[in-house]
Amino acid sequence: MDQKPFKESFKVFARVRPFLPRELMTGCSFPIVECQEETGSLKVFEFVASELTSEAQIRKLLENPKYYQVHNFAFDGVLKEGQTQEQTFELTARGLVDSFLKGFNCSLFAYGQTGTGKTFTIEGTDSSPGLILQVLKDALNRLEELKKTNDARLTLSYAQIYNEVISDLFGKGTNLNIRKGKSGPYVEDLTEIDLSDPAEAIEALKRGASRRISAVTLQNAMSSRSHAVFTLTLEQSTKTTTCVSRLFIVDLAGSERITMAGVKGVRLEECKRINSSLSELSNVILSLGKRKEETGFVPFRNS
Ligand code: ADP
Ligand code: MG
Repeated sequence: MDQKPFKESFKVFARVRPFLPRELMTGCSFPIVECQEETGSLKVFEFVASELTSEAQIRKLLENPKYYQVHNFAFDGVLKEGQTQEQTFELTARGLVDSFLKGFNCSLFAYGQTGTGKTFTIEGTDSSPGLILQVLKDALNRLEELKKTNDARLTLSYAQIYNEVISDLFGKGTNLNIRKGKSGPYVEDLTEIDLSDPAEAIEALKRGASRRISAVTLQNAMSSRSHAVFTLTLEQSTKTTTCVSRLFIVDLAGSERITMAGVKGVRLEECKRINSSLSELSNVILSLGKRKEETGFVPFRNS
């Protein structure tokens, strides 16, 4: 029982992905990021040259510090390219499962530019399952232990937010409403799958993932255009009390610089909605992170 949940209530990790085959083919594949695992920091090289044309040119610039600047970014941990999905789970999500099973609400967000590996990290592929499946398996394994002392029920829902409209990825519902309930806000009429049958839950997850809206942009051939919110709910009851906890895993739509992504028309409107919802999310997190007496207003409803 002495495995500690996260000591702090907010942690940030950075994951660096390997170059993709299409990036290697274009030749723009010189690493300008260095992961320093001991300190959990990233070193990013920024070159003064307006255009970097070849690896040879970059190596030449690196010989003289006057041609580049080094920026350091500190995190709670970094995962360099080549780190596995399992290592990612161990570092980032396992502590959350501990807290969740102890009755705390927790959230995990994947944030970053389109094409940086958010969906890969959260959903993964058949051969490299991402955080959702690993969290699900870990929680189900440990639920058996919990059931020896408490009555425990685990359910799962999966929703998508596309252009500010919420739809159910497990059911047919669309344009769903957010309501405020006894144990916090919830999405009305969202399908909740009972996890007494793990195999069925895993099938449902696959069906849900394939229903997410994606579209082609220059930065990512199959970029996800929606935010996906996966929610595990645990209800634990003893003879006298009931405790409900939730674990949210959110695969955010990618932020994009509109000029770089080469988008027009419907895609441009999507892009604006995505960027504005991401900036509202950061405003909410900033307000929640302030001490109580400083928090005037949390802009939950702006997006
Ligand atoms: P995002 O969701 O951030 O837009 P994706 O998860 O779709 O990005 O990743 C873009 C591409 O990079 C995909 O082809 C994905 O398979 C690949 N990719 C991302 N992260 C990794 C990784 N850690 N290892 C190998 N391939 C990765
Ligand atoms: Mg994605």
